[in-house]
Amino acid sequence: MQSETRVKCPKCGREHSIMVNPSLLEEAAKGGLAQIAIPCGDHVLLAYVDRYGMVRRTSTTLLVTGAGPSFKTGTISINWSSKKLVDESIISDVLGDEYLNAIKDALSGKSIPTPELESLMAKLSALGLLVDKIG
Ligand SMILES: [Zn+2]
Repeated sequence: MQSETRVKCPKCGREHSIMVNPSLLEEAAKGGLAQIAIPCGDHVLLAYVDRYGMVRRTSTTLLVTGAGPSFKTGTISINWSSKKLVDESIISDVLGDEYLNAIKDALSGKSIPTPELESLMAKLSALGLLVDKIG
């Protein structure tokens, strides 16, 4: 007995289908809710399924790849993919190409910014060098 249920990511709106199988329902029957993690872009969608196969709760968390020494898991508060650099040459001149590329990768979703890079990007936003994409 296997059924499919759909769940919408609260962070990006993407829809995922979950196969609800007996072992999942068993897990839910034991602990109240079974937790499922679904990779969703640069984050993970967590869905909590009850013993009837209904999604009761959703949340998102960071998808951490690699072994960053001080990476804190939590919800990303800033959606970097909606931001763009005003002038790449300024970043390149001041911080160097290494940082410019790291920032571009983070903005394009190719990599997850380290806390250090994220705080740097937050500063760039505050300085008006990193702005919301229009449209
Ligand atoms: Zn998502």
